[in-house]
Amino acid sequence: MIPLSVARARRPMPVLFLVADTGGGHRSAANAVTEALAEAYSGEIDPICCDPLGGPESPAILRWVTGLYGPAIRLAPRVWGAIYRATDSPAAMRLVHRTLLALAERPTKEAVARHQPAAVVSFHPLLTATAVKASDGRPVVTVVTDLVTTHVAWRYAGVDRVLVPTAAVRWRFHLDGVEAPRCVETGLPVAKSSGPPTQSERAALRRRLGVGERRLLIVLTGGGEGSGGIARRAAALLRWLDDIEVVVICGRNRRLERTLARRAGDRRPERARTAAKRPERPTRQNAGNRLIVKGFVDNMADWLRCADVVVTKAGPGTIAEATCAGAPLVLIEHLRGQEDGNVELVVGAGAGREAASVGALVRQIDELRHDPAALGAMRAASARLGRPDAASRVAAELAELVGLATRAADANDG
Ligand code: UDP
Repeated sequence: MIPLSVARARRPMPVLFLVADTGGGHRSAANAVTEALAEAYSGEIDPICCDPLGGPESPAILRWVTGLYGPAIRLAPRVWGAIYRATDSPAAMRLVHRTLLALAERPTKEAVARHQPAAVVSFHPLLTATAVKASDGRPVVTVVTDLVTTHVAWRYAGVDRVLVPTAAVRWRFHLDGVEAPRCVETGLPVAKSSGPPTQSERAALRRRLGVGERRLLIVLTGGGEGSGGIARRAAALLRWLDDIEVVVICGRNRRLERTLARRAGDRRPERARTAAKRPERPTRQNAGNRLIVKGFVDNMADWLRCADVVVTKAGPGTIAEATCAGAPLVLIEHLRGQEDGNVELVVGAGAGREAASVGALVRQIDELRHDPAALGAMRAASARLGRPDAASRVAAELAELVGLATRAADANDG
């Protein structure tokens, strides 16, 4: 029998992760770090995810406002951009924290009291200050999930450590006087995958996913909310280019999924379900077998790895994941404000191209399908941009912060 003191010593240390499902990137990053912690510190750290903005413990009004994010970026992206800019100042954020975001404090404090975490980690800009206020003196970490532009909400002063995805974000914190070791460039955490595939791995993956192997495969996605005029773009690609196959990943956008399912010849679209995490639905294809429509998938890395080209809005999570898969990118849209700079990052590195209009997208894909050398160069540049070790680097930082590395060193000394 294990003595009680040893059993106690072995109990994993809870660490509270604060996320929100505005888009898919914040939760994906938290999930990737959870996976990395399980791999490297299994039984030592126990990450607990909490959503104080849209979760069941949050006040109804806050959940309602949080739920507006998806429709706002899909239907009124300019209005969203204006809100982003209007709140990007310390004075404006103070007001938002005193009013709307004050509602997130109670569920966060309750989670801290319930779990007694060794640290609180914010993966969302709107939860950074909340994390500090609710932490009750525990260390607070911010994991920044925007690649270039860094809203003032990310840069709340009372945080103990800031883990950033790129040199551009590190520079922004440097301007605020936040330097190493408080600010560490880890990369943006992405789920573990097997990296850029070889030709034969890609072919095997396509067989497994039920995708044709002969045609150029376009994976079209608009982040967790399925934004960026995806239906129009899919229709134009299929209409004008007859030797391509298109997989559309609709995320939580049920309307897009239903529209495309009808177009793909499925007369019985499923009734809307609201759960964010629902099982993957079966593949639907049209008569020509050139359109595949998926809802919210939980195997994004597979789809990115088997693509010839990933067409996406300039979401940081999708960019980070696509580069880890070495996939060439065509960026169709960026959210004003938070995704400013992402297109330059990708295009500047040679990993992708920009195609803001539907016509430009058709032209770019038409060019690329006849230019395997250009595609190969983009593939190589994309892989160079990828940072597959980001999640394990974040995990190591958290372990060090809660004293695990020190404990290991002490054990070795002893
Ligand atoms: N995602 C997913 N399944 C889907 C659609 C999206 O897992 O069906 C994930 C995707 O892999 C990425 C995130 O959602 O990790 C989208 O993040 P991004 O930063 O690109 O855009 P956001 O949705 O946050 O605006």
